[in-house]
Amino acid sequence: MLGDTTRGHVGTDLAAHIAYLTRVMKTPTITAIWADLAVTARREGWSHEEYLVAVLARQVADREANGTALRTAAAHFPAIKSLEDFNTDHQPGLRRDVLAHLATTTYIPTAGNVVLLGPPGVGKTHLAIGLGIKAVHAGHPVLFDTATGWITRLRDAHQHTRLAHELHRLRRYRLLIIDEVGYIPFDHEAANLFFQLISSRYEQGSVLVTSNMPFGRWGEVFGDDVVAAAMIDRLVHHAEVLTLTGDSYRTRTRRELLAKDPTATTRTTRTT
Ligand code: ADP
Ligand code: MG
Repeated sequence: MLGDTTRGHVGTDLAAHIAYLTRVMKTPTITAIWADLAVTARREGWSHEEYLVAVLARQVADREANGTALRTAAAHFPAIKSLEDFNTDHQPGLRRDVLAHLATTTYIPTAGNVVLLGPPGVGKTHLAIGLGIKAVHAGHPVLFDTATGWITRLRDAHQHTRLAHELHRLRRYRLLIIDEVGYIPFDHEAANLFFQLISSRYEQGSVLVTSNMPFGRWGEVFGDDVVAAAMIDRLVHHAEVLTLTGDSYRTRTRRELLAKDPTATTRTTRTT
């Protein structure tokens, strides 16, 4: 079998052996590409080391891409929105340096939190997803749900006396995204469960919360000023709080479309 290599071509025995070894190593990319890359290597006169690097690098790149794809699916984002597609011109008051810092995801290993506040339609969910995707790309497991969704999950666990277990299980996610706190007021039990969720994450794992309500009105959301204050305390102790302002992006886009001169649009279309 090894005699084949000394003759400078790959025999079927050697190919079968490589297929077997790459299967055992669970490196399907190498199985798929080693032969083509070997042809290139011979043609281009690569050293053995250069060939090895090329083969391994392709496997690592595919594995990372697969990991990212798996984490993206597991995060349950309601849509795919990127930070790059977020138009910061529409948010002149937004601290771009803070957003750029959050995009590096360095707050996640230190269990820092993010709070996005602002009225409906200003891009809170968009930013939450965009930051979630950055985290996924950096290798962090993320889980996204609305506040209502989180309460349903926790209530279910609580009813089956598995709340502590569920909160512990959630530790494997390095970032929990809780969207839309405040749209629906919490009953007493929901407020309590939510408090336990925030407490369990405190200095353990990151939380990203979005809300249409300023902190001053969280007492109304949770039906209890003391619980709300204790929660905000834990949430913001290590957190970046970004406040978005302005008109809804949804209605603004519609307004801009309606305001467009239709003849101007036709002219542009003709010349391009
Ligand atoms: P919110 O969660 O604050 O209610 P969304 O994030 O759902 O708002 O934004 C509403 C829609 O407008 C989404 O489709 C979002 O992608 C878009 N959008 C909002 N703000 C921006 C922005 N600054 N740049 C690009 N798209 C935006
Ligand atoms: Mg939203």
